[in-house]
Amino acid sequence: MIRLWTPRRAWRCLLAGLLLVAVSAAAADDGSAQAPRFLLGGAATHDGTPMRACDPEALAGVQTVEIPAPAGGWPGAPQAISVFNVFAGEVMVGLGDRVVCGRMHDARTRDSRFRAGVGLVVVPPAGTDDPVRVAWRAPVQPQWIPTIRIGGPSPVQQEDTLRLVVRTACLAIALALAFSALMGYIGARDRTFLAHVAMCLVLLLWQATLNGLSGYPVPWLPVGDHETRWQVAFTAFAFAALQYGLWSQSGVVGLWPALRHGAHWSVRGFVIAGLLVPLLPYAALGAAWWILDHASLLLTVALTLIAVLSIRRGDRRAFALIAAAAPVIILFIPPIATSRIVVEYRVELIQLVATWFLIVMAYTLTNRYGQLRAQRDAMRQLADTDSLTGLPNRRAGLAQLDRCFAEARRTAMPLSLGFVDIDLFKRINDTHGHDVGDRVLVAVAEALATGVRRRDDVVRMGGEEFLVLLPGVDAQHARERLDAMRHRIAETAATLGVPELQLTASIGVTTLQADDEQAVALLRRADDAMYRAKHAGRNRVMADRDPGVMPHACPDTLSAD
Ligand code: GH3
Ligand code: MG
Ligand code: MG
Repeated sequence: MIRLWTPRRAWRCLLAGLLLVAVSAAAADDGSAQAPRFLLGGAATHDGTPMRACDPEALAGVQTVEIPAPAGGWPGAPQAISVFNVFAGEVMVGLGDRVVCGRMHDARTRDSRFRAGVGLVVVPPAGTDDPVRVAWRAPVQPQWIPTIRIGGPSPVQQEDTLRLVVRTACLAIALALAFSALMGYIGARDRTFLAHVAMCLVLLLWQATLNGLSGYPVPWLPVGDHETRWQVAFTAFAFAALQYGLWSQSGVVGLWPALRHGAHWSVRGFVIAGLLVPLLPYAALGAAWWILDHASLLLTVALTLIAVLSIRRGDRRAFALIAAAAPVIILFIPPIATSRIVVEYRVELIQLVATWFLIVMAYTLTNRYGQLRAQRDAMRQLADTDSLTGLPNRRAGLAQLDRCFAEARRTAMPLSLGFVDIDLFKRINDTHGHDVGDRVLVAVAEALATGVRRRDDVVRMGGEEFLVLLPGVDAQHARERLDAMRHRIAETAATLGVPELQLTASIGVTTLQADDEQAVALLRRADDAMYRAKHAGRNRVMADRDPGVMPHACPDTLSAD
C-alpha cells in the first residue's frame, strides 16, 4: 500500500499550512480599500537648473570653439547643442547668455536630456547671430575627435538616446556573459570559465570608463579628475584580456607549443603596462595610449596570420580567433578609421567590437563546456562499465540497487533481486582455457540481459557472479523469471561451439521486505540463497525463504535439471 502519510510529511504540511495562513493574514485587506492606492517612486528634485554653472578654474587653458549662427541669424526656434566624444575634463556649451558646463564621468553635472554627451537646449531670439561657443580640453589621442551636433531638440535627443542604448546594452551583455561564465564555472569547475568572467568584467569596466557610464546615474567608479588615466589603464587591461582570449581559446598554442611563452608575455606585458599608468606623467599618457593601441594591433594581426596557417593545417578552432580578431583589425584600417561614421560613432563601434569579441569567446567557451561534459560522461561510462561484458560493474550496480531500493520504498512497489553464480566456472577455465571462459561470461551476460526490461538491470559483480535487479516484480514472478534465465544460460552452451562444455548457474533470489532498512540487506539474502543453491547441488534457483541447510563443504557435482 502506498504510504501517503508519514509523521515527517504531516509535519511539513502543517508548517506549510501555518506559513500560508501567516502570509494571507499579513496581506489581508484592512477594509480601507476604497481609498485610492498608488506607489510613488523618488522625490521631485528638479530645481530648474539641472546643469552646473562653469567653473572658471576648470576651464583655464581650454580652447573655445565658436560656431557661427546660420546666415540671416537664428530662426527663433529651440536649438539643441550636444557635444560628445570628449571623455575628460569639463565641457562648456554656450549660446548667448546661456552657458553651462558638465563632465562625461558625472551625470549629475549634465542636462538630463543628454546622457551620451554634454548638451544644452536654448531658444535664441529670432534674428540674433550669437555664435555657439563650445570648449574642451584637447584629447590625448588624436583619433578622439570631439563632435558637436546642433539642430532641433527632438532629432538631437533621439540620437543621444540611441547612443545611450547602444552603450548600455553593450555593458549589459558583458555583465550577462560574465554571469553565464560564472554559472559555467559552478557547473564545470574549470578555471577557464573564471578567466572568462574576469575578461568580461575588465571589458565592462573599460567600456564604462570610455563611454562615460562610469558616472551614470551617479559616479560608481572613483574616476574623479583622472578620466584619461583610467581610460589608458583600462585600455591596457582590456588589451590583456583581448590577447588572453585570442591566444587561449583559439587553439593556436595547442598547435604550436613554442608560442606559449609569447602568449604569456603579451598578456603580462599589457597587465604590467596598465599597472604602471598611475606613475606616468600626464603628458606621457597620449604616447602610452598610442603604443598600447599599436602593440595590440600588431599582435592581433600576427595572431590572425598564425590562425590562417593553423586553419590550413586543419585546426578549425582557429576560425574563432579570426572571427573575434577581424573587427578589431578592420577598425584600424586607415580609410575606415578616418571615415566620418567611425569618428562620430567611435565609442559605440569600439563597444560593439568588444561585445562581438566577448560573444565569440562565449561561443568557444560553450564548445569547451560541451567537450568537458562529453569527456566526463565518457569517463563515467568507463568507470561504471565492465569492459568484458559491457554490463554495469559492481560500483554502478550497487548504486543502481540503492536507487531501485529508494524507488521501491517511495512507491511501495515490490523489488526482487537475483544473485547468479556460474557453476564450476574454474573448471571451465581449466578445461577449455581462459578464452572460452571469457566467451562464456559474455554469453551468460547476454542471456541474462534478454530476460530484463533494461540492460542496466543486469550487473557483473565480479568474476563469474552477476546481479539481476527486478524492480516491480514480486517473489513468485521473480523466481519464474530467474528460472527462465537459468534455462537460457544452459541453452547458450550449445551456441558457443565448444564440445563438452557444461554450463549451468546457481541463482539465489530474494524480495524486499517491510523491515529491510538498507539495500545491502537484500544483497546479503540473495547471496546466502545462492550459496544454499550451490550446497543443494547447483543449477537451481533458491529463494531466501526456501528450506535448506548449509553443509560445511560444497559438493562438486551437478544435480540433474
Ligand atoms: P562454484 O560453482 O562453487 O561457484 O565454483 P567456481 O569454480 O565457479 O568458483 P570459483 O570462485 O572457485 O572460481 C571462479 C573462477 O572464475 C576463478 C577465476 O579464475 C575465474 N574468473 C574470474 N574472472 C574471470 C574472467 O574475467 N575471465 C575468466 N576467463 N575467468 C575468470
Ligand atoms: Mg563465485
Ligand atoms: Mg562459480
